[in-house]
Amino acid sequence: MFKHIKALLKDDLEFERRAVKIYKDYGLEIEDEDTRKMLLSFRKDETGHLRALENKLEKIRTDKLNVGFYCPRCGWVLVFGCNPKVGQIIKCPACHVEIQLFINDDGEYAVKAHFGA
Ligand SMILES: [Zn+2]
Repeated sequence: MFKHIKALLKDDLEFERRAVKIYKDYGLEIEDEDTRKMLLSFRKDETGHLRALENKLEKIRTDKLNVGFYCPRCGWVLVFGCNPKVGQIIKCPACHVEIQLFINDDGEYAVKAHFGA
């Protein structure tokens, strides 16, 4: 589950880890004080991004990530909650179409709308 999202997050995580190291290494080597402060400030920014990505991956790992989609009819945000039941149906709060959660052929959560007659 979430294999595409996990792959993207892991790529981003690797990018952020490299950025943290580069800003740290250059920040500690550079002699110009203003440039050094700027690079070390960038390092703090990237460290924040790194923590956010790690937090998101941890939520996936521990089933604490909300499963959400956009309504196939109107585009409104639909939230099924953490670790939802497959087959669960919710009604879009905007257009009132019933939306069902299922697992697609890739083993990922997906939704289908019941537009009715
Ligand atoms: Zn809708």
